[in-house]
Amino acid sequence: MILTCPSCGKKNRSPAGRLTDSGRCGACKTEISPVARPIDADPESFREITGGANVPVLVDFWAAWCGPCRTAAPEVARTAADMRGRALVLKVDTDKYPELASQFGVQGIPNFAVLKNGALVHQQAGVVPSARMNQWLMTAGARPENGKRETGND
Ligand SMILES: [Zn+2]
Repeated sequence: MILTCPSCGKKNRSPAGRLTDSGRCGACKTEISPVARPIDADPESFREITGGANVPVLVDFWAAWCGPCRTAAPEVARTAADMRGRALVLKVDTDKYPELASQFGVQGIPNFAVLKNGALVHQQAGVVPSARMNQWLMTAGARPENGKRETGND
Protein backbone atom coordinates (compact mmCIF):
# COMPACT_ATOMS: atom_id res chain seq x y z
CA MET A 1 0.00 0.00 0.00
CA ILE A 2 1.40 3.39 -1.02
CA LEU A 3 0.81 6.48 1.12
CA THR A 4 1.65 9.88 -0.32
CA CYS A 5 3.36 12.28 2.09
CA PRO A 6 1.17 15.38 2.54
CA SER A 7 4.27 17.54 3.00
CA CYS A 8 6.81 16.54 0.34
CA GLY A 9 4.72 14.29 -1.91
CA LYS A 10 7.07 11.32 -1.57
CA LYS A 11 5.32 8.00 -1.94
CA ASN A 12 5.91 5.84 1.11
CA ARG A 13 5.28 2.12 1.07
CA SER A 14 3.36 0.81 4.08
CA PRO A 15 2.72 -2.85 4.88
CA ALA A 16 -0.95 -3.65 5.49
CA GLY A 17 -0.37 -4.26 9.19
CA ARG A 18 1.02 -0.74 9.59
CA LEU A 19 -1.64 1.17 7.66
CA THR A 20 -3.35 2.39 10.80
CA ASP A 21 -0.11 3.41 12.53
CA SER A 22 1.04 6.99 12.27
CA GLY A 23 4.44 6.41 10.69
CA ARG A 24 6.77 9.10 9.41
CA CYS A 25 7.71 9.98 5.87
CA GLY A 26 11.03 8.39 4.87
CA ALA A 27 12.19 11.60 3.21
CA CYS A 28 11.06 14.54 5.35
CA LYS A 29 9.93 12.79 8.57
CA THR A 30 6.51 14.44 8.46
CA GLU A 31 3.98 12.30 10.25
CA ILE A 32 1.78 10.45 7.78
CA SER A 33 -1.73 10.24 9.13
CA PRO A 34 -3.50 6.93 9.41
CA VAL A 35 -5.55 6.13 6.34
CA ALA A 36 -8.82 8.04 6.72
CA ARG A 37 -10.28 7.47 3.27
CA PRO A 38 -11.65 4.41 1.53
CA ILE A 39 -8.94 2.51 -0.36
CA ASP A 40 -9.69 1.38 -3.92
CA ALA A 41 -8.69 -2.26 -3.79
CA ASP A 42 -7.63 -4.65 -6.52
CA PRO A 43 -7.37 -8.40 -5.85
CA GLU A 44 -3.73 -8.09 -4.79
CA SER A 45 -4.18 -5.21 -2.34
CA PHE A 46 -7.43 -6.78 -1.15
CA ARG A 47 -5.55 -9.94 -0.15
CA GLU A 48 -2.68 -7.99 1.34
CA ILE A 49 -4.87 -5.70 3.43
CA THR A 50 -7.58 -8.12 4.60
CA GLY A 51 -4.93 -10.73 5.43
CA GLY A 52 -2.39 -8.40 7.04
CA ALA A 53 -4.38 -5.68 8.76
CA ASN A 54 -4.52 -5.86 12.54
CA VAL A 55 -7.86 -4.00 12.60
CA PRO A 56 -11.30 -4.84 11.18
CA VAL A 57 -11.76 -4.10 7.49
CA LEU A 58 -15.01 -2.90 5.91
CA VAL A 59 -15.41 -3.75 2.23
CA ASP A 60 -17.83 -1.81 0.01
CA PHE A 61 -18.75 -3.75 -3.13
CA TRP A 62 -20.01 -1.18 -5.64
CA ALA A 63 -20.21 -0.29 -9.33
CA ALA A 64 -20.30 3.00 -11.23
CA TRP A 65 -23.77 2.37 -12.70
CA CYS A 66 -25.33 1.62 -9.29
CA GLY A 67 -27.41 4.54 -7.97
CA PRO A 68 -27.72 3.25 -4.39
CA CYS A 69 -23.94 2.81 -4.37
CA ARG A 70 -23.57 6.54 -5.03
CA THR A 71 -25.96 7.16 -2.13
CA ALA A 72 -23.85 4.92 0.09
CA ALA A 73 -20.47 6.39 -0.96
CA PRO A 74 -20.48 9.41 1.39
CA GLU A 75 -21.55 7.14 4.26
CA VAL A 76 -18.65 4.82 3.49
CA ALA A 77 -16.26 7.80 3.33
CA ARG A 78 -17.55 9.09 6.67
CA THR A 79 -16.94 5.71 8.29
CA ALA A 80 -13.37 5.68 6.94
CA ALA A 81 -12.81 9.11 8.51
CA ASP A 82 -14.60 8.32 11.78
CA MET A 83 -12.73 5.04 12.21
CA ARG A 84 -9.29 6.28 11.12
CA GLY A 85 -6.54 4.43 12.94
CA ARG A 86 -9.04 1.87 14.23
CA ALA A 87 -10.32 0.21 11.06
CA LEU A 88 -9.76 0.22 7.30
CA VAL A 89 -12.26 0.67 4.49
CA LEU A 90 -11.85 -0.88 1.06
CA LYS A 91 -13.88 -0.29 -2.08
CA VAL A 92 -14.17 -3.07 -4.65
CA ASP A 93 -15.45 -2.17 -8.12
CA THR A 94 -17.52 -5.25 -8.95
CA ASP A 95 -17.34 -4.49 -12.70
CA LYS A 96 -13.54 -4.53 -12.63
CA TYR A 97 -13.17 -7.40 -10.16
CA PRO A 98 -16.20 -9.70 -10.44
CA GLU A 99 -14.12 -12.57 -9.05
CA LEU A 100 -13.86 -10.78 -5.71
CA ALA A 101 -17.60 -10.16 -5.69
CA SER A 102 -18.42 -13.78 -6.47
CA GLN A 103 -15.94 -14.93 -3.82
CA PHE A 104 -18.21 -13.15 -1.32
CA GLY A 105 -21.46 -14.27 -2.95
CA VAL A 106 -22.38 -10.69 -3.83
CA GLN A 107 -25.59 -10.65 -5.85
CA GLY A 108 -26.94 -7.13 -5.34
CA ILE A 109 -24.96 -4.00 -4.62
CA PRO A 110 -24.10 -2.08 -2.59
CA ASN A 111 -22.98 -4.97 -0.45
CA PHE A 112 -20.86 -4.61 2.65
CA ALA A 113 -18.55 -7.16 4.23
CA VAL A 114 -16.61 -6.85 7.47
CA LEU A 115 -13.46 -8.94 7.82
CA LYS A 116 -11.23 -9.50 10.83
CA ASN A 117 -7.93 -11.34 10.46
CA GLY A 118 -8.98 -12.32 6.96
CA ALA A 119 -12.23 -13.96 8.10
CA LEU A 120 -15.71 -12.73 7.23
CA VAL A 121 -17.56 -11.64 10.37
CA HIS A 122 -20.50 -9.69 8.91
CA GLN A 123 -22.07 -9.15 5.52
CA GLN A 124 -25.11 -7.13 4.50
CA ALA A 125 -26.58 -5.74 1.30
CA GLY A 126 -28.20 -2.34 0.87
CA VAL A 127 -27.50 1.27 1.82
CA VAL A 128 -26.92 1.87 5.53
CA PRO A 129 -25.87 4.99 7.46
CA SER A 130 -22.24 5.34 8.46
CA ALA A 131 -23.17 5.00 12.15
CA ARG A 132 -24.31 1.45 11.40
CA MET A 133 -21.07 0.65 9.58
CA ASN A 134 -19.09 2.05 12.52
CA GLN A 135 -21.09 -0.25 14.79
CA TRP A 136 -20.23 -3.29 12.67
CA LEU A 137 -16.54 -2.41 12.95
CA MET A 138 -16.78 -1.91 16.72
CA THR A 139 -18.52 -5.27 17.05
CA ALA A 140 -15.71 -6.79 14.99
CA GLY A 141 -13.18 -5.51 17.51
CA ALA A 142 -12.22 -1.98 16.47
CA ARG A 143 -10.63 -0.14 19.35
CA PRO A 144 -12.83 2.42 21.11
CA GLU A 145 -12.16 6.03 20.18
CA ASN A 146 -9.38 7.63 22.23
CA GLY A 147 -10.92 9.78 24.91
CA LYS A 148 -10.23 13.45 24.44
CA ARG A 149 -7.70 14.10 27.14
CA GLU A 150 -7.94 17.27 29.16
CA THR A 151 -4.33 17.98 29.95
CA GLY A 152 -4.77 21.56 31.12
CA ASN A 153 -2.21 24.29 30.64
CA ASP A 154 1.29 24.07 31.92
ZN1 LIG B 1 7.60 13.74 3.21
